[in-house]
Amino acid sequence: MELTDAERDELHADLLRLRDELLQTLGTMGEHAGTVELDQAAVGRISRVDALQQQQMADAQKRRNELRLKQVAVALQGFEDDEYGACKVCGEPIGYRRLKARPESPACVACMSELERG
Ligand SMILES: [Zn+2]
Repeated sequence: MELTDAERDELHADLLRLRDELLQTLGTMGEHAGTVELDQAAVGRISRVDALQQQQMADAQKRRNELRLKQVAVALQGFEDDEYGACKVCGEPIGYRRLKARPESPACVACMSELERG
């Protein structure tokens, strides 16, 4: 189903809010990234492994957020080009419910599961 003007406006606001949140999260993470200190005298080997694992998890989270931010930017560009809400693969409307859950979705459910299956 095509989006109504009200739905479109709402999703646009959602995207702007999401972008701000992601920028804030990435900014905050930036301050902490790389600050895992490996003070071998103060912490044992186990703690060091923990710290490295935490660092890796933080890095993975950061990459996910960066990817999401990119998708948000693409979705916002879609508003400029007046093609927001259309699946980038098949061109069919993605649908309000899916967009409300993930306003940055580039593709409809069917195409997305195809993509994720690779
Ligand atoms: Zn599709």
